[in-house]
Amino acid sequence: MVPPAEMKQDPLPDRLVMGLSKISLAMKSRTWRRQGRKGVGPLQMQVLTYLKSCPGQAATISTIARELAVKLPTASEVIRTLADKGLVRRRQSETDQRVVKVCLTAKGAKAGTTESAWPELLAAATTQLTPQEQINLLTALVKMIYGLQQQGEIPVARMCVSCAHFQPNEHKGTAQPHHCRLFDAPFGDQALRLDCPEYVSAQATRAKEA
Ligand code: SF4
Repeated sequence: MVPPAEMKQDPLPDRLVMGLSKISLAMKSRTWRRQGRKGVGPLQMQVLTYLKSCPGQAATISTIARELAVKLPTASEVIRTLADKGLVRRRQSETDQRVVKVCLTAKGAKAGTTESAWPELLAAATTQLTPQEQINLLTALVKMIYGLQQQGEIPVARMCVSCAHFQPNEHKGTAQPHHCRLFDAPFGDQALRLDCPEYVSAQATRAKEA
């Protein structure tokens, strides 16, 4: 097995941007709710907010389901509702007729695009931090994201801290204090994952302890 720390994964600055973007997504969804867009539920809000951050303001249903960590039928249902409200429309991909893309309509995009440059701005800002500062920020972000998940502000992300394979502080006092049972390997805070394909959801109580 390949240890998680050595697995091919996004560099630390990229994971920081991903973490900040998740928080930004939650904030933007909240702003929409505060703006009183009645009749648009939290998950519908998250789909609209996610689409706004996508290139061309469009994505496939499976991508939306994966990014929001919901099942495909759930994503399809939400998109159907949004289409009925005129906030999104479905169209066939130009490159592959079998693929259906979901696009924001003008009405759906109306909530503003002022924050579309967030990822680039954040990427530039995070590279200004020292390696240790980046690790500290990643750890803090994981904690914040988990808290927002508990409040139902953002969907459950596939992070180490809420994974059934995660054993925090198994090797206390070492440079790699945590352990991944799946890969049977130790790893440190700098290797904490925010979106691991091998993720298996842990019991809520275990995740909270982690
Ligand atoms: S999310 Fe789970 S499987 Fe993936 S590296 Fe972390 S502990 Fe291991």
